[in-house]
Amino acid sequence: MKILVINSGSSSLKYQLIDMETESVVAKGLCERIGIANSNFIYKARGVVVEQQIDMPNHNVAVKLVLDKLMDKEVGVISSMKEIDGVGHRVVASGEAFKEPTLVTEQAMVLMEEIKDLAPLHNPAAIVGVNACLAQMPETPMVLVFDTGFHFTMPDHAYMYAVDYNHYEKYKIRRYGAHGTSHQFVAQECAKHLGKDIKDLKIITCHLGNGSSISAVDGGVCIDTSMGFTPLAGVPMGTRSGDIDYAAAEYIAKKEGMDVSQMLTYLNKKSGMLGVSGVSSDFRDLGKAAQEGNYRAKLALEMFCYACKKYIGSYTAALNGVDAIVFTAGVGENDEYVRANTLKNMDFFGIKLDQHKNDTCPRGTIAEIQADDSKVKIIVIPTNEELAIARETKRVAKLV
Ligand code: AMP
Repeated sequence: MKILVINSGSSSLKYQLIDMETESVVAKGLCERIGIANSNFIYKARGVVVEQQIDMPNHNVAVKLVLDKLMDKEVGVISSMKEIDGVGHRVVASGEAFKEPTLVTEQAMVLMEEIKDLAPLHNPAAIVGVNACLAQMPETPMVLVFDTGFHFTMPDHAYMYAVDYNHYEKYKIRRYGAHGTSHQFVAQECAKHLGKDIKDLKIITCHLGNGSSISAVDGGVCIDTSMGFTPLAGVPMGTRSGDIDYAAAEYIAKKEGMDVSQMLTYLNKKSGMLGVSGVSSDFRDLGKAAQEGNYRAKLALEMFCYACKKYIGSYTAALNGVDAIVFTAGVGENDEYVRANTLKNMDFFGIKLDQHKNDTCPRGTIAEIQADDSKVKIIVIPTNEELAIARETKRVAKLV
């Protein structure tokens, strides 16, 4: 069985064809600059890499190119479209319209139109991506998988904001979270790795990348997460501020003559690690600059680790204990400094890192890095959002 996973952006489309028997990638690639001059098409399969500057005026053309390449006589991996058993589409925001992955139907697409403005850059692109795939593969079952999906089990006291309740009822203003497929995937992998039933585990999952979020997972069910109505909330990130006193934002806006929309661009794109350090949003650059003595780069990293530590502490309280802390994504999987500084001085909680295991942690594989006398397991787990989407597609479309 093969499942095609599609991640559509406003001018891009990432794809992976996954063999579900082996859960391995058969082919993958990227369509860049769709609808813009100099579109670029990348296809990788069986060690072959094809890169073509080819005109892609819209997502329909991009999807057709992907399918043609997958079936290509020379570099293709399937002989007919029928070999694609299902398509999973990543969708960033669901609002309260979708509480779980959902089969693509006319009714579902009407709802998708209604929630477009929850993620103005991403949701409209997902609709375009679904329609482009439907045009080429009208008979193939398709599933919408939402970044927010895993977080719908949060209790109301965790997802509500302390504002006028009428605004929740009228506009569905609340915490939705993000990175849900990743949090769910690594929590499941953690249980598998420990050889335990996920129902018996309390896990804190730290998805730390350019965007970062932390979740509390109790018995396989998310009970809280750090991102909010949008991905702006929580720990500071590459370019996002994370949690901030809104009165401070208003004060800056007034002084600098920004309107609300400019302020949001400032908080989303010019803040976080980039804003504090003035060096970069990339943690590799920050680490290097900090080592060279750059005070602001060091400060940005320390602020990041301290914010992560506070979320881990508060989620330990929310969960009434923790069995495992999982690190994943670009920074979580690769940055030993961030892991060590986030977890330092947490032995009161029974959380103790082994410095050597942390520093020599192998890349791309699951690794335990806690000290022998740590009560809590500390595990680095590579995330795989595409595989998580493919698994959900298989389950929801009842593919066998
Ligand atoms: P992601 O959003 O998950 O793709 O993560 C991107 C972030 O991971 C960037 O800030 C990168 O600097 C960071 N990253 C990737 N590789 C490393 C590494 N080897 N050491 C430190 N940070 C890394």
